[in-house]
Amino acid sequence: MRIEVQNLSKAFSGVQVVRDVSFTVEEGQLVALLGPSGGGKSTILRIVAGLEDPDAGSVVLGERRVERVPARERGIGFVFQHYALFPHMTVGDNIGFGLKVRKEDPATVAQRVEEMIGLVGLQGLGQRFPHELSGGQRQRVALARALAPSPRVLLLDEPFGAVDAKVRHDLRLWLRRLHDNVGVTSVFVTHDQSEALEIADRVIIVNHGRLEQNDTPEDIWRRPANAFVAEFVGATNRIAGRVVGDEVDAGFLRHPRPAGLDDGAAVLILARPAEVMLHPVGEDESPARVQRVSFVGHSMKVEIEVPDHGVLTAEIPPAVVRAKELAPGRAVRVTLSAAQVFPSDAAPPGTVTSAARRQRRLTALFSRFRRTRSRV
Ligand code: ADP
Ligand code: MG
Repeated sequence: MRIEVQNLSKAFSGVQVVRDVSFTVEEGQLVALLGPSGGGKSTILRIVAGLEDPDAGSVVLGERRVERVPARERGIGFVFQHYALFPHMTVGDNIGFGLKVRKEDPATVAQRVEEMIGLVGLQGLGQRFPHELSGGQRQRVALARALAPSPRVLLLDEPFGAVDAKVRHDLRLWLRRLHDNVGVTSVFVTHDQSEALEIADRVIIVNHGRLEQNDTPEDIWRRPANAFVAEFVGATNRIAGRVVGDEVDAGFLRHPRPAGLDDGAAVLILARPAEVMLHPVGEDESPARVQRVSFVGHSMKVEIEVPDHGVLTAEIPPAVVRAKELAPGRAVRVTLSAAQVFPSDAAPPGTVTSAARRQRRLTALFSRFRRTRSRV
């Protein structure tokens, strides 16, 4: 069933937690609500579920506005981190619980429970109690319990938050396959960007109660709407610069100027470590110096110190590190194979380094396109 959320707002004790959020989840999609903790993701999910009333806005499930429909009549299945299994009930009884509440006859319940146990791959464990299961198995029981009454929408709030990293990774792939089999419209909340990007059809980024971007995982990664999204979804180098002619100029590097920025504008260049290219040069040809080279698995991490910019991180294949003899102390010219460029004002407050700020002031002082700015 399609979910449409329109202009939702919610405050708790005068503090605005959800700000005018609108999005649509198409029938059969698996969508992630992704963002830092405290951003309002759970509140949005709880409003869709009917566990919280919005101050403004509406929720449409299928064709029906549901603001006044109680949670239990919305046809929603939940897996919330804190909705633990009933400890004194077997796996089978946990899974059948929702059906018993609905007063289905025992034979139907038993049959559906078996079906669900098969669906989540827990054959033979129906008589176990939750404490006799691993964390990953318990979460699969929780999923089976949510799916048993055939909900029209499935909502998951940090469903794998309590299990360790390896199991968590297996579980998320498993959830994606399960979703492909069952096809129920699903929304899951996570603060883990790799989890969201790996399994969701669409990713909705929420920060400070606001929707920052709603896109496919690939577009979130390749075309982040703003500096916040770019940084949230991947490790990035922040480089302060300024638009000069056809380029953005950061002093030690230049990059083609993207459309839509004024000449002279202060910009923030965001480049992922894999986008940073290093070229060995003579001592006085560049101020940048390799500071450290370390092994991080499939590639080498090369840290480069740039006076007035701080330390940049590059990720470079080991063979290239060897061929270019990138070792500490080596002078390098830096180029970017790709980068995101945003007006400086779009940077999240408080995150620009003091070195970057100093650089920007200097650039401003010497720039022919200097403008008076009340705030940098
Ligand atoms: P997220 O799931 O993104 O971590 P939440 O939606 O849980 O964010 O919370 C957003 C903000 O709202 C937080 O500051 C949280 O403390 C506050 N909050 C959430 N629920 C309540 C509530 N029932 N009463 C008061 N404040 C709440
Ligand atoms: Mg939450």
